[in-house]
Amino acid sequence: MRHEINNNHVVLAGIVLTLAALVGIELLPQRTLDLIAPGAADGPYLITADGTQDGKYVRWIDEKQRRLQCRYTGTHDYMGCGLTFVLTGEDPRLGRDLSHFDTMEVDLAYTGPSPFIRLAIRDFDRRFSKVEDANSARFHSLNLRPRDIDGPLTVELSELTVPEWWIHHYDLSREYNRPGLENANAVSVDIPFVKSGEDHVLQLRRLTLKGQWVSRDRVYLGILCAWLLGATVLVVRGWSQLSRSHHRQQREIDALTMRTRQLRLEQEKLMRLATIDELTGVLNRRGLEQALDDYEEAAQGMTVVMLDIDHFKRVNDRLGHDGGDEVLRRVAAVVVANLRSSDVFGRWGGEEFLIACQGPRMRDAARLAEKLRDRIEHSETTSAGVRVAVTASFGVALAPPGGSVADALKRADAALYRAKAAGRNRVEVDRSLPSDAPTTV
Ligand code: GH3
Ligand code: MG
Ligand code: MG
Repeated sequence: MRHEINNNHVVLAGIVLTLAALVGIELLPQRTLDLIAPGAADGPYLITADGTQDGKYVRWIDEKQRRLQCRYTGTHDYMGCGLTFVLTGEDPRLGRDLSHFDTMEVDLAYTGPSPFIRLAIRDFDRRFSKVEDANSARFHSLNLRPRDIDGPLTVELSELTVPEWWIHHYDLSREYNRPGLENANAVSVDIPFVKSGEDHVLQLRRLTLKGQWVSRDRVYLGILCAWLLGATVLVVRGWSQLSRSHHRQQREIDALTMRTRQLRLEQEKLMRLATIDELTGVLNRRGLEQALDDYEEAAQGMTVVMLDIDHFKRVNDRLGHDGGDEVLRRVAAVVVANLRSSDVFGRWGGEEFLIACQGPRMRDAARLAEKLRDRIEHSETTSAGVRVAVTASFGVALAPPGGSVADALKRADAALYRAKAAGRNRVEVDRSLPSDAPTTV
């Protein structure tokens, strides 16, 4: 069995993938940079006020444990003392991109009179930093009070800001003073103000940068884009399916319409065939009855003329059945040639024909019957080289507007019977109803 992939499947798959991405981003191991790993630290230092390092007043108490002591006894107002982690090799311009890190996990121990310990990152920005001036790498710092650091803590890197003194000192345009860690060359932990005679002990147990491999924002944006793309695909697919099914239906409708039209044409053809007399090509009795019904419905009245070939049995006897058929065709042709377009004509049965004229016009109908009688009598009918004399008798009757056609036919038949009785080759008119103008012939 073929399984169609429908929209529900796609949406369900989208939901599952979205949940997987949301859970995945939480479970994914974080990007980590452990700065106290062996070799990362540049060592303890003491910086004099003129910037030169002086190792005289600083010493490791325990280098392995990164515990150091600062005891300054010089003449300057204050010194800086701490630990620096150099992130570059020989070239201080080639730092590390720390912009993917979000937090710094710090574990410090400090005893001494300093009001705060400073965390700092320097970023070598090629737009203005100079190799010969280590201080010109943009400075980012955060001051932690001793009571902030009495246990492991997590610092957001966004808490590190570019301090006033640095901005003031370098006097750069605004955009250079914005924090930026794309090319960090050093991370440090220090006591910025060590005064003469003071004794400070600092131990750094942990300094680790952490960050997501893929930022949440990117994952969320990715999910949003994937949904938009999916929705677009679904909409386009839906449209194309709709248009395909529309076209298919249209084709089916067209085919049906065509078939219906063909059937109607065939039906009309059959109907026509069913109302035509095969032998003479004029209406048969069924066709005549339909036409008479239509006339009767129109209720405008009509005049019917019944025609019966005289002594047709004898014709058949003399000429044979085929000869008789020939005579029937000939008589029908003579009548057709003398009718008006509004007249209805057909074979009533055997050698009997019927003409129905529109309107109650006895005189016209009687005149037509007389003309037909004359034309039939004088028509040239030959069969197998033998000239055949054919005559016919006529009965004419009126169906007044709203009157019964069946009744008129009976009266026409009666008139025809009288014509036969009176010697044939005659027209007899039914006078039982008042007519427009009784006609005598
Ligand atoms: P009348 O003058 O009184 O009408 O005499 P008739 O011989 O014409 O009348 P009758 O009703 O006695 O005979 C009609 C004959 O018409 C009988 C029948 O065999 C013949 N007939 C009927 N239909 C056909 C036909 O389709 N072809 C042929 N050849 N003869 C037919
Ligand atoms: Mg007859
Ligand atoms: Mg007859």
